[in-house]
Amino acid sequence: MQSVVPSPEGLAWAQRLVRLDTVSEHSNLELIETIADHLRTLGVPLRLTRDESGRKANLFATLGAPRPGGVILSGHTDTVPWDGQVWSEDPLSGSVHDGRLWGRGSADMKGFIGLVVARTRAWLEADLPLPLHYAFSYDEEVGCFGVRHLIADLKDAGIAPAACIVGEPTQMLPALAHKGVHRWRCCVKGRAAHSSLAPRAVNAIEAAARLVTVVADMGERWRREGPFQHGFDVPHSTAAVGVIAGGIADNIVPADCRFNYEFRELPGSDAQAMQAEVRAAAAALEPAMQAVDPATGFAFEPICSIPAFSADADEPAVRLARRLAGGGETTLVAFGTEAGLFQRAGISTVVCGPGSIAQAHQADEYVTLEQLARCEAFLDGLRRPAAAC
Ligand SMILES: [Zn+2]
Repeated sequence: MQSVVPSPEGLAWAQRLVRLDTVSEHSNLELIETIADHLRTLGVPLRLTRDESGRKANLFATLGAPRPGGVILSGHTDTVPWDGQVWSEDPLSGSVHDGRLWGRGSADMKGFIGLVVARTRAWLEADLPLPLHYAFSYDEEVGCFGVRHLIADLKDAGIAPAACIVGEPTQMLPALAHKGVHRWRCCVKGRAAHSSLAPRAVNAIEAAARLVTVVADMGERWRREGPFQHGFDVPHSTAAVGVIAGGIADNIVPADCRFNYEFRELPGSDAQAMQAEVRAAAAALEPAMQAVDPATGFAFEPICSIPAFSADADEPAVRLARRLAGGGETTLVAFGTEAGLFQRAGISTVVCGPGSIAQAHQADEYVTLEQLARCEAFLDGLRRPAAAC
């Protein structure tokens, strides 16, 4: 009968990582140094790339003889926060009960990283048929910022892995595509006045509301008309406004309003064209506003841009993941990952990791021990020569 619990060492590493607070706005250095110390003890060469503040770092390490190619095992070290969520235990507990590892990041994605790190000694002793690379990034949850530095550093250093497995929670099914995520902030400048003089003012909230409606209508149009890609939970591109703020008093026409919105586009759809449509609608609203005050109007700032990801069923990373997962079944996922960025760097990429996205970002996040055990079996397969990639 197949083992349904992970190795003690794998589980201990996953727990150790969950117990370190790496919410994106905090430093991840304690976690990075914990892993780096372990790898240094085993003689594994590694590269750290830091953010501008020096408070965060990516870790890239290579096991095996330095040869071209090989497989990246990729994970982000940061987590989302838990403010306002009701947890039944400490989000940093890393406790194990009821067949599950509990805590923030257990599924997304410290379970995966912990299992990879715990495997290092066994891989080193196995005389690997191909280099294995670890790519552990910062600031994924806030826009996949860290991994961009990591990928640029690999390019500068002439390191060219052939394939990448991003261990985001897919219940160990190789995921061949996800949508992109593109987020903008719109700042609306109006002109304030006593509300009894409303016609002489430019109401920033009302102008924002008109543009919010444009964004909502775009989402509605895609829902009705597509394009559609079946296999996604929501088989079309989506639009959503997530935050809005404006106004200071009931009897003042507001001079300022800001709102944030996003598009999640299907692979092959054009997020820049979506944003161009919003800008065109804003430009059409501005003449009426500027007839009252030329200083009024809309300004846009990009917040993040994570490209969509789509792999072919027969490309190297997908073939490898299917073999390691022990079955032909694949999936598509709804959430954004770093996969599109690795793919743009010319690296064949697939998303496959333990746990379910349904638990990620939630209170009482967990990953089942059975999923961790399946991930370990998957990783173990990288020892076999047929894994050459
Ligand atoms: Zn994640």
